[in-house]
Amino acid sequence: RAKSDGRGCYRFFEPAMDADAQLQREFEFELREALVRKEFEIHFQPIVDIATCRACAVEALVRWRHPDHGLIPPDKFIPVAEEIGLIIPLGEWILDTACRIAADWPDDVRLAVNLSAVQFRSGNLVEVVRDALARSGLPAARLELEITESVLLQKDHGGLAVLHDLAALGVHIVLDDFGTGYSSLSYLQLFPFSKIKIDKSFVADLPTRSDCAAIVCTVVNLAKALDMGTTAEGVETVEQLELLRAAGCREAQGWLFGRPGAASALVLDQPLAAPRISPPTATAPKRR
Ligand code: C2E
Ligand code: MG
Ligand code: MG
Ligand code: MG
Repeated sequence: RAKSDGRGCYRFFEPAMDADAQLQREFEFELREALVRKEFEIHFQPIVDIATCRACAVEALVRWRHPDHGLIPPDKFIPVAEEIGLIIPLGEWILDTACRIAADWPDDVRLAVNLSAVQFRSGNLVEVVRDALARSGLPAARLELEITESVLLQKDHGGLAVLHDLAALGVHIVLDDFGTGYSSLSYLQLFPFSKIKIDKSFVADLPTRSDCAAIVCTVVNLAKALDMGTTAEGVETVEQLELLRAAGCREAQGWLFGRPGAASALVLDQPLAAPRISPPTATAPKRR
């Protein structure tokens, strides 16, 4: 950042800070341009019903196809997009594009879209969601909006009011990354979430750490008592899947069932990992 030398006509830069600030400005510029140049892509990852291992939902995950640096993951650019306000038009584009794609999926497959806390402060999130549904023809009940606790941290409870308005549209509100915040339990009293996503950090150590298994079981039972569903994130092995099944977790998402990829590569009409306990044969896969 430029700093005045006190005499009014010169400015000097700390060399290191100058280089950093320059890089930051370039990154921000390129990020803004990326939306115009259509460099963002949405990848899709299945979420399965643990009873059948068939996709019951699909999560939309944004990436940036940078002309020089290749595919950039969301953790690298979403925070900057939030800082510069780009998340508002980017978030609208993600919602719109994902809803249009999901409208062609079987009726029993929902779409899950991540929302940033910044979008909740935009003032028109409800209209944006309503318009995306109207334009795509996707029924509201087939849309899940994933939020993190940060939405509920706003002091004025503005985020909470918007959540109630969104729920009134008929969409599902899902609490993402559960267990990673500071006082997760109190958030469950603030809003009737449809579902809780158990953070992958608890799933990763499930087979080796009994405390993780205890936490997962407790969260599943708590969710049930509150009439909420549960999805386990980051399921990579059959062993994790079987422990989640035993814990009574309803849904799972992770590399075991498929990595995020092109919409055209989604398999929505058959099981994605062989369940150890076969589902009843009467439930033949539903086709369109
Ligand atoms: P998230 O919503 O919790 O998404 C789950 C992340 O876990 C994704 O990372 C996904 O690729 C990854 N994952 C899925 N299965 C496995 C697995 O078996 N093992 C491991 N190790 N990881 C797995 P991704 O795509 O890099 O996204 C990171 C985060 O970026 C997301 O976390 C979400 O918070 C944010 N994000 C992604 N897309 C969007 C978006 O469209 N809008 C907003 N606002 N945020 C987004
Ligand atoms: Mg998510
Ligand atoms: Mg998550
Ligand atoms: Mg996350």
